[in-house]
Amino acid sequence: MPKKLMVATLAILISIFMAIPAAAAPPVTVYWNDREVHFDAAPVMEDGRCLAPLRPLAEAMGAELFWDQQAGAATAHLAGVTLTVTPGSPIAVVNGREISLPVAPAVRGGEVFIPLRAAAGIFNISVDWDETSSSAFLYPNSNDLIHGSDRETVHQISILSALLEGQYDGLTSFAELKKYGDTGIGTFEGLDGEMIELDGEFYQVKADGAVYPVAGTMKTPFASVTFFQADKAQAINEETNFQQLQELIDSMIDNENIFYAVKVTGNFNYVKTRSVPGQQKPYPPLAEVTKNQPTFELNNEEGTLAGFLCPAYVEGLNVPGYHLHFLNAAKNAGGHLLDFIMTSGRVEIDATHNFYMRLPENGDFGKIDMTEDRSQETNIVEK
Ligand code: ZN
Repeated sequence: MPKKLMVATLAILISIFMAIPAAAAPPVTVYWNDREVHFDAAPVMEDGRCLAPLRPLAEAMGAELFWDQQAGAATAHLAGVTLTVTPGSPIAVVNGREISLPVAPAVRGGEVFIPLRAAAGIFNISVDWDETSSSAFLYPNSNDLIHGSDRETVHQISILSALLEGQYDGLTSFAELKKYGDTGIGTFEGLDGEMIELDGEFYQVKADGAVYPVAGTMKTPFASVTFFQADKAQAINEETNFQQLQELIDSMIDNENIFYAVKVTGNFNYVKTRSVPGQQKPYPPLAEVTKNQPTFELNNEEGTLAGFLCPAYVEGLNVPGYHLHFLNAAKNAGGHLLDFIMTSGRVEIDATHNFYMRLPENGDFGKIDMTEDRSQETNIVEK
């Protein structure tokens, strides 16, 4: 190749390569616990490495952040780990010890960009990278980082008023929800059935009455879970109906104003449940859907009731009083409990003093009139 042509070709190639990164590098989306982290200055890919602004990242994770103007260094503190980075230097300080970062943090547009994967490793956070959507999914490995995952906490996704208004979009994945409890109840994206969680396994009772396995990637618009550890238990040796069970549990509790997780295992002569059919957008209000709810009557089943006794003040947030779901021992029938008669079994209750609530971030949630009294509607949809 003549030298002139080679230089020209090289020049063209260089200009192409120079042009490609800016045009082709897709913006990186970062999720913390399934929630998108909002950045004013978007994270970027450089040499196959994601660089992300430290401040929004730290805020999303609930870290304390401190900027030392004099030293020109940023310090983030999270769950017993203190990281100090100095823009321009690859040397970072972790709990007083110096370590090397793969690249030096840099200030761009007023933000300190740090190598994402290296920083995540320092805070014991795992990173799942999705090439197709150019997204980084960050999940905490340390329990100290999972807010509301305490064993004595009821962890709730969204609020009942939002569900009553027809907000059935999935908010939290079941893989994520599992970190906050092994026992609970709720529903699915699009209101596609009743959810019951027992011993860390989720079950979906659809409108056809059948029970389906739940993939970790499926999402819930409304659920409450906790780690079940019985504080009190009582045997049931005589015929007991729903009303009588409520009276029995009422007699076991000593604080009406905290939450109780409830689990009842035993032999049921009769169980009446319901489920709800999956909905398409625009979603109708819950009271519209439950007008045509399929109900199921089961006879002579071994099984488990699980759910919550919530204090009166949760009105609007959850269901005040008893809200239980049923799953039979064969795990092929169940649903939202309407009525039952049991002959023998055992009731266990778990007194829970902490309540953690995740609110939807979408705009529709912001438009719901929360001053409205929905107690009657709540009564209608639960019965
Ligand atoms: Zn229910």
